[in-house]
Amino acid sequence: MEAVSSGEEKLGAGCLQEMYKHNFAKEVNVVYRITIDVDKCEGCGECVDNCPASVLEMEGGKAVVVNADDCLGCETCVSVCPNEAVTVEEV
Ligand code: SF4
Ligand code: SF4
Repeated sequence: MEAVSSGEEKLGAGCLQEMYKHNFAKEVNVVYRITIDVDKCEGCGECVDNCPASVLEMEGGKAVVVNADDCLGCETCVSVCPNEAVTVEEV
């Protein structure tokens, strides 16, 4: 990915996740809006299982946002969703 700086390229995925967690949660006071398109969501649970901040849960066979305040803006939920049902935007 060209957008990734050379400093980040030297880190493994785990380190990168921790770095993002640190940067977004501790140093930048940013609020994110996570939207689940219920018509597109097939209830696979991938977004819930992969969110590092427990922002999402399954409810009635669909993913729902339960803890938006803790969202790190990492967009892991966006990338793992097979149906492009998730959007994350800075507000
Ligand atoms: S962007 Fe998605 S995966 Fe990342 S913390 Fe927010 S809800 Fe969780
Ligand atoms: S990854 Fe996408 S399809 Fe799967 S539960 Fe989450 S929003 Fe629904």
